[in-house]
Amino acid sequence: MATLQLDQVVKSFGDTQVIKGIDLDIQDQEFVVFVGPSGCGKSTLLRMIAGLESTTAGDINIDNQRVNELGPAERGLAMVFQSYALYPHMTVEDNMGFSLKLAGVSREDRRTKVMEAARILQLEPLLERKPKALSGGQRQRVAIGRAIVRNPRIFLFDEPLSNLDAALRVQMRIELARLHEELKATMIYVTHDQIEAMTMADKIVVLQGGVVEQVGSPMELYHHPRNRFVAGFIGSPKMNFLNAVAEEGSAQGVTVRLPGGGSVSIPVDGGQVSEGQALDVGVRPEHLRLDDSGPLKAQINVIERLGGQTSLYVEMDDELITLMVDGDVAHRVGDVVQFGFDPSRAHLFSADGLALQSLSRHPLASLTRQDNRVASETEA
Ligand code: ADP
Ligand code: MG
Repeated sequence: MATLQLDQVVKSFGDTQVIKGIDLDIQDQEFVVFVGPSGCGKSTLLRMIAGLESTTAGDINIDNQRVNELGPAERGLAMVFQSYALYPHMTVEDNMGFSLKLAGVSREDRRTKVMEAARILQLEPLLERKPKALSGGQRQRVAIGRAIVRNPRIFLFDEPLSNLDAALRVQMRIELARLHEELKATMIYVTHDQIEAMTMADKIVVLQGGVVEQVGSPMELYHHPRNRFVAGFIGSPKMNFLNAVAEEGSAQGVTVRLPGGGSVSIPVDGGQVSEGQALDVGVRPEHLRLDDSGPLKAQINVIERLGGQTSLYVEMDDELITLMVDGDVAHRVGDVVQFGFDPSRAHLFSADGLALQSLSRHPLASLTRQDNRVASETEA
């Protein structure tokens, strides 16, 4: 299979630079997800890797070979798009084998490869059907099958699940993760959906405005976002931000005054912090807890009861703050609640949006999907 390396890759359309000098290393057999808001350049970057867009500057290397000048067919990659673009008049088998037919592969070899892909994707009973007789999820599996039969060096996926309904997306996520394990292939997957990124990636690349904001494992990004953008983008519901003022900062921690006047000491490197400096405290909804002696206090605007969890929306300083608490709570809209958080769960951001370095690494921060597998195999 294959490694991929991007070195200061740039793409301009006319005068507009949309990819602004991206460096990236992708290892053999890694499942890498490019995630970011719509328009940040995910598809453009993927199409540049595929050879469907030219590269304005920088190098794209596959297996340590520069491929900038190679056409899409010569790069040995296969791409799966959001729209399946199956040939409506062909059966599933013929759709899956068509690129091999174009390449002059014999009927017998085509059949072997298509059958193998059909087995992996559980499409065997559907091989004689035409696309119109398939569900959306089945069509997308055929599109993936078309990529598998080509035995590509790298699989490229561009939002392949966006056309599917929510339940099917969950199922396909699991299938894609399983597919990755079975094929042991290098895969790059583009999505705007951070849940897809968190659940499938070994390594997430967060993009915004054509630049890489952070690269890391899902738990690295969740526990140690390097800036406010990543902190707010990864995790659902979104991280809350509270306006705070530094009272004291040192390499051992930062004491901040929260809205409402309470103080808390947060274990991050505050060596550069000066007294009176404005800082944003970031706390995820699942890390806020109701606590009658907590430093924060606000009135409940909305309650969402999900059974297993309850979301409370409160307003502080004109900011909407979300608390996610386990189980049900007896509170009602209009109640004033007091709440707090474990300071080791809080993040601090300076005015430029950068996170102050946490004094300890979360024990699971480096965990990847591969580690999950090893752990569960050991237990079994
Ligand atoms: P994403 O996939 O992250 O939603 P895209 O890669 O499709 O974003 O687009 C990134 C930016 O590049 C957008 O601002 C888009 O309008 C612009 N763009 C994409 N393709 C072209 C093109 N062929 N010509 C001009 N601008 C383009
Ligand atoms: Mg796109």
